[in-house]
This record gives sequence, C-alpha cells and structure tokens, in this order.
Amino acid sequence: MVTLRNALRVLSTWSLAGLYERVHAVYWYYCEGASVKEVADRLGRGRLEVRGWIQRLQDSAIRDCVHRARAHVLLQRLLQRTYVDLLGTQSILYIEDGYVRCALCGRPIPGRSWAAYHVSRKHPKLVDRAVDRVVARLRSGAPDGRSNRLG
Ligand SMILES: [Zn+2]
Repeated sequence: MVTLRNALRVLSTWSLAGLYERVHAVYWYYCEGASVKEVADRLGRGRLEVRGWIQRLQDSAIRDCVHRARAHVLLQRLLQRTYVDLLGTQSILYIEDGYVRCALCGRPIPGRSWAAYHVSRKHPKLVDRAVDRVVARLRSGAPDGRSNRLG
C-alpha cells in the first residue's frame, strides 16, 4: 500500500486540533459515498466548506505522488483503515471560558478555523509523531488500532 504521508498529516492535524467533523466528512464522502450536500447537511455546515476539506485532502494525496485518478480509491482505503485511530486521537486544544486554548503552549486560538493552522505550524513534531503512530499501526495490519497479537 502506498503510504499517503501528506494525506495522513492533514488528517492527523485535524484530529489533534479537535476538528473531528472534518474526519467524519471525508470518511462519509470517500467510504460511504455520501455527496458533498449530504455531508454538509449532516454536519450543518456549508457545502463550500465541506468541498474545501475534501479538496485539501485530495491535494495532499496528490502531493504524495498519487495520480489524480487513483487518489479517490487510495484515500478511501486509507480512511477505512485509519478512521477509528483518527477519532481516537486526543485533541491538544481545549475550551476554557469560551476560549479555545492549546494544552501544549497555552496560547489562545482565535477561532476554530485557526486550530489546524496552529497545530501544523507550532507543533509539527507532534503531528509527525501522530502520523508515525498511524503508519506503524497500518504496517502491523491492525486497522482498528489494536495489536494483532492474541491475548
Ligand atoms: Zn500550541
């Protein structure tokens, strides 16, 4: 399997930033065949916004040297195998008195739209480690993040 490292960086950044709805959105789109409109309605978000998330993930897969025509099926496979892991990744951002703050550096985040930016710019090594964890689990062949070993 091709390791879509750039795509995994985007997905892990979303998880670490607590933007789980984006992970749901691309999973529903790629793995459940939901349309952009269906995803947008389900989340109560705008279609343009949802399309932007899908586009961002697709562009990242293309940076992984995946041909545009192959990106869809590869992202589908990747999401099928990493969805549970991504949702189980603890966000480093928390809300205090109505403000979003970063648990690592204590900085306030001016809004949800800055959350992913903050994580990827200020804590790139953390994203790297999250990606490494997911890749290690993919290689161990445990799609749900559990060990293959019995007992
Ligand atoms: Zn921070």
